[in-house]
Amino acid sequence: MNRAQNAPQAAKSIPNLGLKQRNTFGFDANAELAYEITASEQIPGVISDIAAQKLAWRVLGGGSNVILPAKLPGATLLMNIAGQEIIASDASATLLAVGGGVNWHELVAWTLENDLPGLENLALIPGTVGAAPIQNIGAYGVEIGDYIDRIEAFDTKDHAFVTLAKEACHFAYRDSYFKQNPQRFIVTKVVFRIPKSWNARIHYADLAKQFAKNSNPSAEEIFLAVCKIRTYKLPDPKVIGNAGSFFQNPIVPNEQYETLLQSHADLVSYPDEPGKRKLAAGWLIDQCGFKGQRMGLVGVYENQALVLVNHGGGSAQDILGLAKCIQDKVRAEFGVSLQIEPNIF
Ligand code: FAD
Ligand code: NAP
Repeated sequence: MNRAQNAPQAAKSIPNLGLKQRNTFGFDANAELAYEITASEQIPGVISDIAAQKLAWRVLGGGSNVILPAKLPGATLLMNIAGQEIIASDASATLLAVGGGVNWHELVAWTLENDLPGLENLALIPGTVGAAPIQNIGAYGVEIGDYIDRIEAFDTKDHAFVTLAKEACHFAYRDSYFKQNPQRFIVTKVVFRIPKSWNARIHYADLAKQFAKNSNPSAEEIFLAVCKIRTYKLPDPKVIGNAGSFFQNPIVPNEQYETLLQSHADLVSYPDEPGKRKLAAGWLIDQCGFKGQRMGLVGVYENQALVLVNHGGGSAQDILGLAKCIQDKVRAEFGVSLQIEPNIF
């Protein structure tokens, strides 16, 4: 096959694309011009077009961590790069390369089917592989950053493809170098390093309860337990629009935590890095009486106060209005600022 036959087609561009099905809040949103990115080689041309036309632009994966306005001016890049393959394996680990558009949960299921345990605590998190490193997705004491070897991305600042080793990604609690440099990198491929040695992580209370009578569960059993707990606790975006946790758990200095304990003896919190304490944002919101409350078309989920929901027909403005009420009340009651987790476009 010659070079021309191998070259990917240019990215398909779609004017005036409705994104209601591509954001888990289910907000009505229209992209002025969408580009469907199915191969990394399409990206330099698209970015050059955008620069030439001086368009605003943004990247969209599965839309499970975004708050979309009614109109998205300029260009929206839809990340649909597929493919996953084991690229190396030795006595200590397996290296797995995965396209940025692959569905995260399907990848987790695939790793277990292929005897590569490790990612099971991260089951049922919506979205794409390419977006997962942006906020270093985490659940039940595991973060994706723990399993990343390197990331391939297009650096829009230098107009070049780059490979960032794990250390260069600066993974931290729901944070990364990518999040710190918004709109600079477009993640095309993630290379995972899955260690051959495996141990169960079931210390979070919900998981510990599931395995009270089985202290040695398999990765498949943990995967199923995580799916079961999440299906009960979290609203299915296909039924009730949401973006998972709406606020990050605030991390406060120990002194502030000790002071809060004096007035709120049942404060839910967990140790963090030395000198700091992580407060459960859901508990703070619940204490302020928001759990299960509605404000017009949006509200706070009845089973988990950290999740804000679109009951149908709500908008970015509605959800941000509710978020402000919650932030104000939590600040007044506890002196703690809640940071919004989803990305506001
Ligand atoms: P999007 O929402 O499309 O985008 C998120 C951000 O990443 C945007 O800023 C976007 O510009 C950027 N981005 C997307 N793709 C790329 C790319 N290829 N290159 C560069 N930037 C990109 N999160 C957790 O951490 N833990 C959880 O347990 C969890 N549970 C959830 C449960 C529910 C029900 C829902 C709705 C959400 C949950 N989330 C959770 C949040 C969300 O699923 C993750 O943040 C996920 O990684 C977002 O993926 P996405 O493809 O939908 O990204
Ligand atoms: P949970 O288990 O009820 O716990 C409430 C909060 O306390 C969590 O946010 C968690 O922090 C923290 N926590 C609980 N046990 C802990 C422990 N042993 N050590 C340290 N911190 C502990 O939470 P949940 O709402 O059912 O969610 C379960 C997991 O899924 C959590 O890890 C949560 O982050 C994740 N999740 C994330 C999203 C999202 O959109 N970001 C949505 C749903 C669920 P952490 O958040 O730091 O783990």
